[in-house]
Amino acid sequence: MAAGTAIETVKLFTNGEFADADATNFGPVFNPSTGEQIARTPFCSAEQTGRVVQAAHEAFLAWRDTPVVERTRVLFRFVSLLEEHAEDLARTISREHGKTHAESMGSVRRGIEMVEFACGIPTLTMGDTVHNLAQDVDCETYHHPLGVCVGITPFNFPFMVPLWMFPVAIACGNTFVLKPSEKVPLSVMRLAELLKEAGLPRGVFNVVHGNKTCVDALLAHPLVKAVSFVGSTPIARYIYETGTKNGKRVQANGGAKNHILVMPDADMDRTVAALKSSAFGCSGQRCMAGSLAVAVGGAGDPLVEKLTAAAEKMKVGPTDRDWGADMGPVITRQHLDGLLENIDKGLKEGAKLARDGRGVKPAETPNGFYLGPTVFDQVDPAMHVAQTELFGPVLGVTRVGSLDEAIALTHESPYGNGAVIYTRSGRAAREFKHRAAAGMIGINVGVPAPMAMFPFTGHDASFFGDLHIQGKEGIAFYTQQKMILTRWHDGGGAGEFVTTRG
Ligand code: NAD
Repeated sequence: MAAGTAIETVKLFTNGEFADADATNFGPVFNPSTGEQIARTPFCSAEQTGRVVQAAHEAFLAWRDTPVVERTRVLFRFVSLLEEHAEDLARTISREHGKTHAESMGSVRRGIEMVEFACGIPTLTMGDTVHNLAQDVDCETYHHPLGVCVGITPFNFPFMVPLWMFPVAIACGNTFVLKPSEKVPLSVMRLAELLKEAGLPRGVFNVVHGNKTCVDALLAHPLVKAVSFVGSTPIARYIYETGTKNGKRVQANGGAKNHILVMPDADMDRTVAALKSSAFGCSGQRCMAGSLAVAVGGAGDPLVEKLTAAAEKMKVGPTDRDWGADMGPVITRQHLDGLLENIDKGLKEGAKLARDGRGVKPAETPNGFYLGPTVFDQVDPAMHVAQTELFGPVLGVTRVGSLDEAIALTHESPYGNGAVIYTRSGRAAREFKHRAAAGMIGINVGVPAPMAMFPFTGHDASFFGDLHIQGKEGIAFYTQQKMILTRWHDGGGAGEFVTTRG
């Protein structure tokens, strides 16, 4: 930002209006492509956070009784607006996050799919009925909303991850308070504008900003009924433990270290094309990114050779202007420094850099937060770079002798998000899909992230809770069932007018 240029302070969104926060602390929002600060995020006080929850609760009392088809109509209008503004939304995402234009457009598409899914809520929330369960007794169930639901989201998908949560929550009749990552609040503010334009009643969707103080206020507030979280494992664990202790429903997605098995019979060109986008797409800042390639038998040499050649060709550039860049920057200078430290650690542990992305800097934006695609070969599974989620464009390659050894590595990892196998063997694929320790499995696909109608089934330290985000589990999370058992005896009231069975 040029000297003297005012930096925008991001607003809250509460009771249908954009409002100033009462903050005294702020966090910087950067354009990672240039390294310039473009905005600042206010850190709300606990009191202000509480007032936003209170407003959401008041809105709930009317929204829960709004006919489901009327709630859905708002979402249909919201889908149209998202489609209309897709390009402009993608630009906002690229500017504050650094994703390439294609990646941002992809995340807009995935986000829209969540709203389309939520538009099916009248059917998706139908209950069950049984006639004459006992003599003259009928039984039925209904799915009722919970109240105020909260979403706390990470920096790496500023637009898509919030859409994993609130469209389904509000379609079910809840109201929602979103606390986006303080590093990327701008895309969410565009969502608030479009929801308002779609005619969503005041207070149904709200945005607060902040860090631990704000999150703790949400976790402790008696009117908050459910908390959805996506972020790193230590914070996911904290949110789950604190939220459940306070009597909330919690679903908390954590971090990951995803194993990508490459069998010697794999189609190596296709494997490398998919692995390249899995490991380096979004500059490796995806919870489903391929982060440790496990080459089985003779797969190691051709894999490393083709992968480094492919990485070499990738164009790293500023994504706020260059729509042809294959890869953009990482989120902050601090995150970049952490990645560089981890690369040093890998080298000290004895891993070999087959492709070194350090020092890659586009000439026009040398102050952006860039690290080129980096490939470590000869990674021992016990090394720090094999065990830790690095969350950047750094792929490790480890070599093992058999499929059994490769599957065993998935069990040694504390995480359990994604695991993928590349092979031409149905037998190997079948062994892998049933035995690998991960909740989302891919067979010859890059990133096995489910679409809206399927749950995001992380296991182990990648998920804390019972009901996952997305799909039918997502709907179960945002509703509570009521069972009604009814018996009407003969006689009394208008019974004499009822036709007897014949
Ligand atoms: P993060 O855990 O640092 O932050 C996530 C959210 O928690 C943010 O809104 C942040 O403000 C808040 N937060 C941070 N520290 C807190 C604290 N001490 N107390 C309360 N709240 C706090 O995560 P991040 O760096 O923004 O995102 C990257 C992480 O998210 C990676 O680990 C990645 O794997 C994970 N992630 C997981 C999934 C998934 O579905 N499993 C999806 C996307 C990202």
